[in-house]
Amino acid sequence: MSSNVRVRFAPSPTGKLHIGGARTAIYNWAFARANGGTFILRIDDTDPTRSTDENTQIILRAMRWLGLDWDEGPEVGGDFGPYSQTERLGLYKQTAERLLAEGKAYPCFCTPEQLAADREAAQARKDPFQGYQRRCRDLSPEEAQARIDAGEPYVLRIKVPQDRGNVVINDAVHGEVTFDAKELDDFVIFRSDGTPTYNFATVVDDALMGITHVIRGDDHLSNTPRQVIVYEAMGAPVPTFAHISMILGADGKKLSKRHGATSVEEYRDAGYLSDAFVNYLALLGWSLDGETTVIPRDVLASQFSLERISKNPATFDPKKLDWMNAEYINAMDDATFADEIMLPELLEAGLIDEGFEADEAWVDALAAIVRPRTKMPADAAAVAAPVFMTAETLEYDEKSVSKGLAKEGMGAVLDAARAALEAVTEWTPAHIDAALEPLPEALDVKKRLVFGAVRVAECGNMVSPPLGETMALIGRDDCLARIDRARPMAL
Ligand code: GLU
Repeated sequence: MSSNVRVRFAPSPTGKLHIGGARTAIYNWAFARANGGTFILRIDDTDPTRSTDENTQIILRAMRWLGLDWDEGPEVGGDFGPYSQTERLGLYKQTAERLLAEGKAYPCFCTPEQLAADREAAQARKDPFQGYQRRCRDLSPEEAQARIDAGEPYVLRIKVPQDRGNVVINDAVHGEVTFDAKELDDFVIFRSDGTPTYNFATVVDDALMGITHVIRGDDHLSNTPRQVIVYEAMGAPVPTFAHISMILGADGKKLSKRHGATSVEEYRDAGYLSDAFVNYLALLGWSLDGETTVIPRDVLASQFSLERISKNPATFDPKKLDWMNAEYINAMDDATFADEIMLPELLEAGLIDEGFEADEAWVDALAAIVRPRTKMPADAAAVAAPVFMTAETLEYDEKSVSKGLAKEGMGAVLDAARAALEAVTEWTPAHIDAALEPLPEALDVKKRLVFGAVRVAECGNMVSPPLGETMALIGRDDCLARIDRARPMAL
């Protein structure tokens, strides 16, 4: 399916890609995919003091990590380029010249002092119209040219038709929004330093790139009437707007650094899965059916719709993100979990080295017990650690020792366990469990205490995965050696 839907994500590279921007990118991407349209990435780098190439690279990297492939934009090209605003200056100039020639824009020579004085006067006389007082609007072209030739600084302003009236947009999220004509003055489209303003550059780009839907944060809603005026002056069709709500922190305030990590990079580095992260962000203000929470990428990319975007601000809840991440990890099959999470984490933790080789079944069996205990990737190494240690290197957690081993009767438990284990003919989880099973009754010691003591002896802690499975992976000789090492700690 292909359609003429064309959407763009247009970050300003003045910082890293933040959660809010990432969500905007996800919505644009998903909307394009769901409609067989085109997703464009454009770098809005017109603010030269705050935009850096480094930030652009960080944003591209974050987009790749999020899996939001763009059809046109940096590094992939396209028929509507260039895709960064600094390279499009010629197009803004051309468009401005055309508007000038058509009498839809005009040069304005008013000094800042003049503008301030006009504003004060309008305030003093309680003029309902407080904007630019249109002083230069009716200068004759000859006079204007003469002043330009004389080197007088000037800006270009758009000529808002006197009879334009209120600007009404039909926002896909907010519905009909009306902007009072009084708020619309002849605003600046080109500054005196020859750079275009955001409202002008954005519309020139969106119009020339054939953007059909503008999906962006609702902090831009107030810019929209001005942008509509630019479309109209250009004679270009006005796209559909969809202004998405802000993302708030738990305290109801706009999400910011105060709430913790806000950049995509930080979440990537913390080990969140891209799929889980995208799923979670997609749900901040959009829903599939009001209840489904785990929404795989392909479902998002086929089912996303603007109709299901909520008007209300969404709250970012790190706990829900963690939950989502654990859901995605738990849904992996053992081999995928081993390859993508467990082995890399073990390597990172220094528990294995690059040359690590093991029987596939052994790795899968380990993955099967580690995966359900892994909420974040780094947990995998902690959970699996006892398996990779030996009777000599195993670290005993002090609290676990005092709670589980250093207790009256536990010496006898370990002796009995050792004898039972020595008699195991086939070193498998089932046989190990079967050997330990009769001990509580035989020793008349609570089951919890028996298994607790063996667990601490074998794993050094009380929170390791199921005992039979773990001990099978550790191997018989080392299991027995661990009991020998732990024996003196038991009473
Ligand atoms: N560069 C703008 C921003 O990052 C884009 C706004 C828009 O989508 O029009 O806020």
